[in-house]
Amino acid sequence: MTYQNYSLKQLQAIDARHHLHPFTDHKELRDAGSRMIVRADGPYVYDSEGNQLLDGMAGLWCVAVGYGRKELAEVAYDQMLELPYYNSFFKCSTPTPVLLAQKLAELAPKSVNQVFFGSSGSESNDTALRLVRHFWALEGKPEKNIVISRRDAYHGSTVAGVSLGGMKHMHGQLGGAIPNIVHVMPPYAFELAEPGESDEAFGLRAAKAVEDAIIEAGPENVAAFIGEPVMGAGGVKIPPKIYWTEIQRICRKHDVLLMLDEVITGYGRTGEWFAAQTYGIEPDTITTAKALTSGYLPLSALLVGDRIAATLVDKGGEFYHGYTYSGHPVACAVGLKNLEIIEREGLVGRVRDDTGPYFEQQLKERISGHPLVGETRAIGLMGAIEIVRDKATRERFKPAGSAAVVIRDHAIANGLMLRATGDTMILSPPLIWTRETIDLACDRILKALDLALVDLQGR
Ligand code: PMP
Repeated sequence: MTYQNYSLKQLQAIDARHHLHPFTDHKELRDAGSRMIVRADGPYVYDSEGNQLLDGMAGLWCVAVGYGRKELAEVAYDQMLELPYYNSFFKCSTPTPVLLAQKLAELAPKSVNQVFFGSSGSESNDTALRLVRHFWALEGKPEKNIVISRRDAYHGSTVAGVSLGGMKHMHGQLGGAIPNIVHVMPPYAFELAEPGESDEAFGLRAAKAVEDAIIEAGPENVAAFIGEPVMGAGGVKIPPKIYWTEIQRICRKHDVLLMLDEVITGYGRTGEWFAAQTYGIEPDTITTAKALTSGYLPLSALLVGDRIAATLVDKGGEFYHGYTYSGHPVACAVGLKNLEIIEREGLVGRVRDDTGPYFEQQLKERISGHPLVGETRAIGLMGAIEIVRDKATRERFKPAGSAAVVIRDHAIANGLMLRATGDTMILSPPLIWTRETIDLACDRILKALDLALVDLQGR
């Protein structure tokens, strides 16, 4: 039975009766009804009413190669018929995760050569946390188990993901983060830089907050530092250039592992395969998911550096951890084909050399002058627009976050899927966007801003 047999109203009623959504106020959803997205093609999604929307969020940061890729469907179909599932426990393997792991080792920074598969970013961050603690235990230093993270970080929605993340409201609903995770300031210059503080000085200060936390906890007790190279869900917070090299220096100095969460930035978004390469660092773990399959099937990969991998092999002993779907044959087949498409179409280089710089420039030239905009910023195809009530003082509208949703609703009504997080509009389009698509998105953003300006008059 297909959805076409149902009217939108019927589907919304069934949705409200039976379907609990992620990160949703269910009372609000019941009152408003959900927007039913029913098909997609290239950079566009279509709702049940036939409205076409340019997808400024690539689904949820994931649909790198755009929608409607027959090759991905075909490879999944073939793999399902040949071997839909087998596990990778008990000394078993299947071919596609083996080949995908090899491919990932080829693309990753040179000291990163092992892969542990899961089905989501959250799961892989659970794996990462377990793995770094296991590593230090194998090294005979089990007391080295504190992980330093940042406020406003997003590392997923499982218990470990929420705890590693720095979102207070999420910790609250968990009944508190799990122990031995410490959160420090994020490198968010727009709100946290002192007046007149240079980008470099701010970057060094934000990195020093990490070193202060390591020293306060005692380096002998600190396992790792974890961070998103560019904080995504927290509002596309792009750190000053110096931040990551300084973080790497600090981690090495105190023998603290460096964990990157590249669930959003992995597979080309910042104009290199991994943001580790954009920032020139060699992390010990890299969590990836999303664009690994362009979201066509759930798959995540924790990329593991040589230091940790060597200890696992040298010391031996079982790592009591794994998922039924670790190395899922069909998801891995789709991952391989997806990476082949990204490579064949040169999407990473295009983001680095052409669409990324153009995107940043267009946001600056066309959007940043708008009266509601305090700043635009972008790296690769990942961008943010800060919404302010007063351009000069950067005062925000009250209550917090209320203006951005007005703009988002106008953007959607005018054909652009855009996300609001707090007072920041965020964009993370498919990597297939061209200069023309960027121009069209900017037209629609400007229209949404102009309409919102009228709505927000006097507020
Ligand atoms: N880490 C980061 C940086 C993310 O952005 C996300 C999801 N947006 C996750 C982890 C969690 O991934 P998932 O939703 O696949 O569990």
